[in-house]
Amino acid sequence: METTEGAQKAAIKNENQQHQPDQSYRDSIATVDKAGKRIWIYPKKPKGDLYRARTWFSYLLLAILFGIPFVKVGGQPLLLLNVIERKFIIFGLAFWPQDFHLFVLAMITLIIFIILFTAVFGRVWCGWACPQTVFMEMVFRKIEYLIEGDANKQRALNASPWTGEKILKKGLKLTIFYAIAFLIGNTLLAYVVGVDRLAQLVTHPPAENIGLFMAVFFFSLVFFWVFAWFREQACVIVCPYGRFQSVLLDKSSIVVSYDFKRGEPRGKRSKKQEQNLGDCVDCKLCVAVCPTGIDIRNGTQLECINCTACIDACNGVMDKIKKPRGLIRYSSYTAIAEGAKKLITPRVIGYTVVLAILIVAQIFLFVHRSDVESTVLRTPGVLYQELDDGYVRNLYNIKVVNKTFAAMPLSIRLKDREGRIKMIGSDQLTLPSDGIAEAAFFIDLPREKLGSASNKITLEVLSGDKVLEELKTTFMAPRR
Ligand code: SF4
Ligand code: SF4
Repeated sequence: METTEGAQKAAIKNENQQHQPDQSYRDSIATVDKAGKRIWIYPKKPKGDLYRARTWFSYLLLAILFGIPFVKVGGQPLLLLNVIERKFIIFGLAFWPQDFHLFVLAMITLIIFIILFTAVFGRVWCGWACPQTVFMEMVFRKIEYLIEGDANKQRALNASPWTGEKILKKGLKLTIFYAIAFLIGNTLLAYVVGVDRLAQLVTHPPAENIGLFMAVFFFSLVFFWVFAWFREQACVIVCPYGRFQSVLLDKSSIVVSYDFKRGEPRGKRSKKQEQNLGDCVDCKLCVAVCPTGIDIRNGTQLECINCTACIDACNGVMDKIKKPRGLIRYSSYTAIAEGAKKLITPRVIGYTVVLAILIVAQIFLFVHRSDVESTVLRTPGVLYQELDDGYVRNLYNIKVVNKTFAAMPLSIRLKDREGRIKMIGSDQLTLPSDGIAEAAFFIDLPREKLGSASNKITLEVLSGDKVLEELKTTFMAPRR
């Protein structure tokens, strides 16, 4: 029995090795020629079910991206990432630098999420949700098709001399490109400073906010340059996520794959003679639509952003030649090479459960973080004071951060101890909305109740009757 299984595996291995194409394509990238010069990619306009689905999904993502800065929760932005003033609002909750541990945890969760998600589902993110792909393929490229036509017309236009028509088309396209890049720049600024402040900036002369104005102008230029010229190079050369694919993916990852078992040997059909060919008719339509210029029939490559354009193109061809769809499809190398039918394997389920647990844990921590964060310290350099009425006095400083948008009165009391607290300055401590309150105060404890020179005490920070936090500190007293 074992011998038969072993022989089967060896046969599969042998067969797969025969299908391994020439690997020399891995020594270069499709967008750079031997002399190191950029090869401009003219991808043919894709069409098909997946392209349609991606188009609608990208409209949803764009609506979310441009809409979020306008959404408010309780008068506060849903999302504000003010790195300049270190002020962050996420889902209407204020986050301070004191919440840095949550940020670190979120980053760790995100990294684990990316690793596990990519190991199982490949580059689904790149093809469907990455802003670079969404803007490039669903906004800028569509405008280009509209103004300059499909790939062949674009190629011809670029090769033609500068006529009035060419100047008009290029001028119109680049003007629209810059307008959209400017809109993206302003939207990013809205995420940093909020829409209200952005409205102020837009309605006042640039000289009044020259720093922010220059920042928007600069970032708009960068976006314009990326989408008008740099394009797929951002995914192929710059994007760190793209560069990490070789370690994140394995043979079981679900990626856009060519079914070499079904497709090979490839070749054009001839009605005249009997042929023993696979389903691939070598029409190269899958290569023509690829925005990174690769041939997916060579196998999984770092340049592939899993945009699914080749799946649609090949499905169209299969329909025409009356063969089943899916010669190029979402699948794994193992599934194709070994004929495993099930993509939802125990590994996929296991990883998905881990991902779900991580996300739930993160949400729990975010929701249950405290509304205020206080620190109390004995004032440095000040020892204790012995009072005439038999009490010992220590001086403290307190700092309270309010992470909510409601101002609140604060008070401090001793927990499980007899003693008194005397605020220095105003008796009433008020914590401003989304702000910080600082104060100094004395704690007096009866000398006969103090056991040693250093005593542990617990303080409660209250707003009204509600205990917001418990703080531990030390109380110094004379040795007994
Ligand atoms: S589109 Fe399909 S049939 Fe045409 S070359 Fe690509 S894999 Fe072969
Ligand atoms: S190979 Fe296919 S999925 Fe990958 S980038 Fe090219 S067209 Fe998109």
